[in-house]
Amino acid sequence: MATNVNAEALKESPIPEVAAHTGKQTVDPYNVSGGVDANGVQLAIDYSKLIEEFGTKKIDQPLLERFERLTGKKPHRFLRRGIVFSHRDFELILDRYERGEPFFLYTGRGPSSDSVHVGHTVPFEFTKWLQDTFDVPLVIMLTDDEKYLFSEKRTIEEVQGYCSTNAKDIIAIGFDPAKTFIFSDFDFVGGAFYRNIVRLSKHITLNQARAIFGFNESTNIGRIHFGSIQGATSWASSFPHIFGADEKKTTKIPALIPCAIDQDPYFRMTRDVSARIQHAKPSLIHSKFLDALQGPGTKMSASVDESAIFMKDTPKQIQNKINKHAFSGGKETEEEHRRLGGDTSVDVSYQYLRFFLEDDDELEKIRVSYEAGELLTGQLKAICIRELQAYVSGFQERRAKVTDETVAHFMDRRPLQWVGNPRVTIV
Ligand code: ATP
Repeated sequence: MATNVNAEALKESPIPEVAAHTGKQTVDPYNVSGGVDANGVQLAIDYSKLIEEFGTKKIDQPLLERFERLTGKKPHRFLRRGIVFSHRDFELILDRYERGEPFFLYTGRGPSSDSVHVGHTVPFEFTKWLQDTFDVPLVIMLTDDEKYLFSEKRTIEEVQGYCSTNAKDIIAIGFDPAKTFIFSDFDFVGGAFYRNIVRLSKHITLNQARAIFGFNESTNIGRIHFGSIQGATSWASSFPHIFGADEKKTTKIPALIPCAIDQDPYFRMTRDVSARIQHAKPSLIHSKFLDALQGPGTKMSASVDESAIFMKDTPKQIQNKINKHAFSGGKETEEEHRRLGGDTSVDVSYQYLRFFLEDDDELEKIRVSYEAGELLTGQLKAICIRELQAYVSGFQERRAKVTDETVAHFMDRRPLQWVGNPRVTIV
């Protein structure tokens, strides 16, 4: 495959190994697996290897210190704990913030089920925090077309139905209505957005799409084209109602895209094309995955019901799922556990606490005590259940207040209002 690829156009797009069947690590928009060992045992995802293979940069201490200096804000727990761990050109976004130049945030969700799961709230919660921190516009794409194209079973009516329930979930994260535009691809494609989709697609060959995404001769052409839709959303000129119609100006405004790292291939492709047609390249800030309940190595997925805790789950369901399914890093017997201690690196309850427990000191105490064998698996699970129940019920209270009118407002094509860095001038 590599020999057919336009090397110049793909200089940011090393070809990921499409290797689920050979047992190797595979991370792309359609597969997330750390691979399996010779005995068929699932391996954890090696994120350092991903940084190397994808050619991204690790978020290091100096970058975090600069962020804190510029924004005056302590880094979010996802940044402090290396959950948001990698980036492309995030420093350029900080440069723009420092100089008072505009940029915007872009993230999204593929509506594959009627409720988001706790894993989806990772990029969304982080995006809300970035919106509060930078005070910039945010666009949220609902890829209903993608979820139709990439499934044998789902109908268009089904994914469109999920759009409004998913939009309610997303709004319940707490986004600012004055600064946030949510759209469904089926509804929004057209006009300036469609011009950009076509512009982007004109610069991607079939060979490139195959090399980046692993498509073959049997792939439907809708899937092959979809990357141009996800990519064109990162260009400010797709949103004249937010940034104005003057493309000389809007093509210079970059997006900052917070997402889990499986989405990176879309934007490697988009960055290559952006550079070739004088559009601002999107910057990215990547998060790790919240593990499936079954353990590290695969992600929690709405398409795999038993892997996930959904944001609509009751306290009882959360308790049952953690108690029955959450993979434990504890030992076989209590005596052995007390003697040898538990392994927090694979323990799903501990890993979920790393994502959702705010207090660094409490988290550290839990880690030390579990690894020393003082805290038992049942006790660790009880802490995890308590924290997740509180997180999900707080969300459900906000979600109950989101009406159809609120959704209609967020999805209305309207100008947004933001202050940004006080020195920002858009026009
Ligand atoms: P599905 O749950 O149907 O498998 P998906 O994983 O493709 O859907 P999307 O809705 O397409 O999820 O993704 C929305 C955002 O959430 C993306 O940034 C994606 O990388 C992120 N995401 C999805 N699953 C997880 C997870 N388990 N942990 C962290 N982020 C996730």
